[in-house]
Amino acid sequence: MATDVQIAVSRLASVNPATGEVLGELDCAGPTEVRAAVARARAAQPDWNACGIRNRVQVLRRFQQNLLASKTDIARRITQEAGKPYVEALLTEVLVVLDNARFLIENAFAVLREEKLPHGNLAHKTKSGRILHEPYGVIGIISPWNYPFSIPATETMAALVAGNAVILKPSELTPLIAMELQSLLRQSGVPDDIFQVLPGEGATGSALVNSEIDKLVFTGSVATGRRIAQVAAERLLPVVLELGGKDPMLVLDDADVDVASSAAVWGAFVNCGQTCLSVERCYVHASLYPAFVEACAEKTRKLRVGNGMEASTEVGPMIHERQVRIVETDVEDARQRGARVVAGGTRLRDLGPTFYAPTVLADVDHGMRVMREETFGPVLPIARFADDDEAVRLANESEYGLAASIWTRDRARGERLARRIQAGTVMVNDTVSCFSISEAPHGGVKSTGLGRTHGRWGLEEMVRVKYVDSDLLPRIKKPWWFGYGSGLTREMEGLMGLLYARPLREKMKAAVRAVGALWRRKL
Ligand code: NAD
Repeated sequence: MATDVQIAVSRLASVNPATGEVLGELDCAGPTEVRAAVARARAAQPDWNACGIRNRVQVLRRFQQNLLASKTDIARRITQEAGKPYVEALLTEVLVVLDNARFLIENAFAVLREEKLPHGNLAHKTKSGRILHEPYGVIGIISPWNYPFSIPATETMAALVAGNAVILKPSELTPLIAMELQSLLRQSGVPDDIFQVLPGEGATGSALVNSEIDKLVFTGSVATGRRIAQVAAERLLPVVLELGGKDPMLVLDDADVDVASSAAVWGAFVNCGQTCLSVERCYVHASLYPAFVEACAEKTRKLRVGNGMEASTEVGPMIHERQVRIVETDVEDARQRGARVVAGGTRLRDLGPTFYAPTVLADVDHGMRVMREETFGPVLPIARFADDDEAVRLANESEYGLAASIWTRDRARGERLARRIQAGTVMVNDTVSCFSISEAPHGGVKSTGLGRTHGRWGLEEMVRVKYVDSDLLPRIKKPWWFGYGSGLTREMEGLMGLLYARPLREKMKAAVRAVGALWRRKL
């Protein structure tokens, strides 16, 4: 039932956030185009599925090699469209996709092949069970602008290798890089109707959610995710929701201040703080607090901000002026409630309207927006804690639960604490890089969403599990079929004892009762 369809705009401009240059214009897909694309995908999908996993793995292999050959063009396009430094485009986007392809090439067959399912229950030993992993059919993917290549590409590869067709609705801010993904996949042997990109704004995404897709993988904000979940609930459309985060970093009293402060500065400002896994809140043991804050402030002041195409740039622009306004609001709120701005705290208007100075805030608390809402910008707020219990309490005091990091010289202590943190991932002595570990699941708890992408778990999201049960004694009627009476009751009581009684003596007595009852009934 269409409940959330908005009015579509007809044209979409892709703009370089560093320069304001218009990089290209595209037509937005409206509900009619969306329905037609889904129908074409549905018609083409059975052949794609029938060609088998091993052939689809070959396609992925070609895709991986084609991507490697065009890595510079792809990374350049990412930097132009999303603003991040070129080296980050290579590392956090192209490399992630190359390695994810490696994971799928090596593991897709093993994860998705048919499995024999042994039966432990004696009563079912005469049946053979198999598990099939069947593709959903047509998977819709709606993606954000902050990782405009690695997010849709990794999800798409998993969906395709499992035998699905994919319709991708990329962010309206980064449609061109999605078109690059489309050409690379087609060049590698993915049929046109099996992977289609539908550019557009929220209205196009909404039309996709309301179309006849079989599953949706959505990555974006909590607000949009909630709206989508409501629409999906109407027709029980299965969804994966990868939503916002407010990741905490805990610096314990035995941490190395130099290492942890460098990590905090990178974790907070990589991709200009526009990373779902960004360090959005930092908690430091009181004994290290002054030195840690000073180290972060000093390292932050030295960061080189500018156009991501320049090799020396470490922090690029924000994606859009409206994101800058959110950062300004959060910083101003913190300032008014008593936070100290120890680095940054202003726009960099000389560089352009989308540049904001990497900012470190000290003496923050949970009364401030910057510690509760997802800022999604270059801000590192640092609070203090007295002991591990308080650190865990503060880390868990959030509506979000994507990832967290713990910094300590004692790994065992870090791993013990990790078990107490409410998050999809906890890293001990590293941050953000979990997204590049292709074996690891990615996803969160609480308002961060539902389901997982990446690794075995991401692949399993792309298939339905079907159980096929085949009886090995087809000519024998089952004893539990109709013909109820005291005989069958005694048999069942005996059978339960035989299966579950302890000790062995009781089991044997039950077996004798069951066989006796069966014998009498057959007579
Ligand atoms: P967004 O929610 O504004 O948009 C995401 C996508 O949804 C876009 O393609 C947009 O066009 C589309 N959309 C908007 N309204 C829609 C509707 N009603 N129906 C269907 N689609 C609709 O998010 P954004 O600003 O593009 O991305 C930033 C957010 O994404 C942040 O909150 C960030 O934390 C989150 N994010 C999460 C992860 C993760 O893995 N958990 C990864 C990256 C980004």
